[in-house]
Amino acid sequence: MRILLVEPRTPETFWSLRHALRFVGKRAANPPLGLLTMAGMLPREWSYRVVDQNTTMLSDADLQWADFVMVSAMEIHREAVVALAGRCRELGRPLIGGGPMFMAEPDASLGVPHVVVGEAEEVAAELVADLRAGSLRPLYQASRFPDLSLTPLPRWDLLDLRLYATMSVQSCRGCPFDCEFCDVVALNGRRPRTKSPSQFIGELELLRVLGWRGPVFVVDDNFIGDRKRCRELLEAVIDWRARTRTPMTFLTEASVNMAAEPELLELMVAAGFKKVFLGLETPSAESLRECRKMQNLRGDLAESVGVIQAAGLEVMGGFIVGFDNDEPDIFQRQFEFIQKTGVVTAMVGLLQAMPRSRLYKRLAGEGRLRTASHGDNTGSTINFEPRLDRDFLVGNYRKLVRRLYEPRTYYQRIRVFLDAHRSRGPRPALTWPEIGAAFRSMWVLGVAHRGRFAYWRFVASTLARHPDQFGVAMTLAIMGHHFRIVAAGL
Ligand code: SF4
Repeated sequence: MRILLVEPRTPETFWSLRHALRFVGKRAANPPLGLLTMAGMLPREWSYRVVDQNTTMLSDADLQWADFVMVSAMEIHREAVVALAGRCRELGRPLIGGGPMFMAEPDASLGVPHVVVGEAEEVAAELVADLRAGSLRPLYQASRFPDLSLTPLPRWDLLDLRLYATMSVQSCRGCPFDCEFCDVVALNGRRPRTKSPSQFIGELELLRVLGWRGPVFVVDDNFIGDRKRCRELLEAVIDWRARTRTPMTFLTEASVNMAAEPELLELMVAAGFKKVFLGLETPSAESLRECRKMQNLRGDLAESVGVIQAAGLEVMGGFIVGFDNDEPDIFQRQFEFIQKTGVVTAMVGLLQAMPRSRLYKRLAGEGRLRTASHGDNTGSTINFEPRLDRDFLVGNYRKLVRRLYEPRTYYQRIRVFLDAHRSRGPRPALTWPEIGAAFRSMWVLGVAHRGRFAYWRFVASTLARHPDQFGVAMTLAIMGHHFRIVAAGL
């Protein structure tokens, strides 16, 4: 049996990091973890090809080679999936779809004839039997959230790891919170389901044996969702680091209540965690209450960010404008909050009603839904009727994002971050591609593009005040180049 696994191309967004990746000679930020995990659930003796359309062209020859084609997609991949379904139909290749996009609309007009809805661990055996028999059903529906001990090792051997800036692993699914705009609870449940420390270390060890030495993104819904398990896992990672002397570093997604857990922060830093993405959302307490993000109201939000930075972690932040309780001054308030806290990577988005979120249901009940969400919350469309005037909201959103990534404001924010951040924990050695990227950035940011004077002032001040964090500062400067290009196109 020949199985072709396709990861659709992600459109250019803040998350794609495409313009930054060029500096380090990589083609994509993250590998297709879902597809490789799916491949791990299928018989080893079958033949597999992985085509990640973010790194490689999908040819007709690839499709003709396959007995079955599988695609894993999120909402943002809708157009790419429709195009793939058309090509599969023309070439007579059965297509099986899975991933979050198909949770929302398993039978929509996407043209995908076979769909797996939900997590695949408990339906994989049935799917394999039907693939063998050549009698695929239109729908395979997981009846519950599976135990993660059933999740196999991802088939990393099917991928050219060198094309990626970061590898991905997962330690848990689900989140104990239930923010109104978020679809995680509907997709993965409210009780965090976790891998055992030995299962997680097994995944890291496989990457290490395959030669990976770079950053690893722990793509959990909320890494600290189960704090006891998180501690055990971090202790296991610290022990594994000491045994293997790996230079791998980690980044993850979590919630801001981690600021109140000094022991957990210490363990994360000792385990090699360098960055954490937090849904900070808004400095408006009314808007936080509106979306039930109560964990962001437990302490002073700006102080919490400072505590995490001082512990040795860079805070990347998600921010949202367009809540019902937002006043017209929200744009200025967001700008001041982001600048003051030194959240350099600030992903600001317009509120979107994701299908399956509580917000979607509420707005549908209020008759305010307009179009389906496109899945990119940093695009400039709104899929519901906002309380603030739509044009005012979109226009000021664009201005806010462009202002945040203007060279002068951006470099100023990095300075604030470097002052707050204590560089601690294992230090990865500088690699040749990183040194090359630093030199390329000097040409691109310091000579070829606007903002060159701000750039050189920033370089000089970093060397004078934070020479030990020069590498971090250069990486952030390069990422700013990507964000600036995306912001200009909004
Ligand atoms: S904390 Fe994050 S993952 Fe959890 S429900 Fe809120 S937005 Fe979703």
